[in-house]
Amino acid sequence: MFCPKCKSEYREGFYKCSDCGTDLVYHLSPEVSDNSVSEEFVEVFSTYQQGDIAFIKSVFEGEGITYFFQGESSIMLIAAGAYARLLVKADEADKARNILRDLGFLKTY
Ligand SMILES: [Zn+2]
Repeated sequence: MFCPKCKSEYREGFYKCSDCGTDLVYHLSPEVSDNSVSEEFVEVFSTYQQGDIAFIKSVFEGEGITYFFQGESSIMLIAAGAYARLLVKADEADKARNILRDLGFLKTY
């Protein structure tokens, strides 16, 4: 659930925003987004290795790349063989891929 006004995310079961009292909606419509900058994220890499995640994080932070790992908060999932997916902003995906390639995480074709 999302507040269309302050864009906060709420758990299932909430129907009004606790900050502004606006009725929550299931999905924020794209028109609501406030500027033209693309905030789309794309997957560039996935890994089972906690060590890879920590390493990539430190490199991307140094490079100023906006990224997040999907699934990383669940260490149990990774232990069970699921993997964390690395997502970066769409307009930084090429840069991110080049870095990953230089680091040997991505195969060069
Ligand atoms: Zn609100």
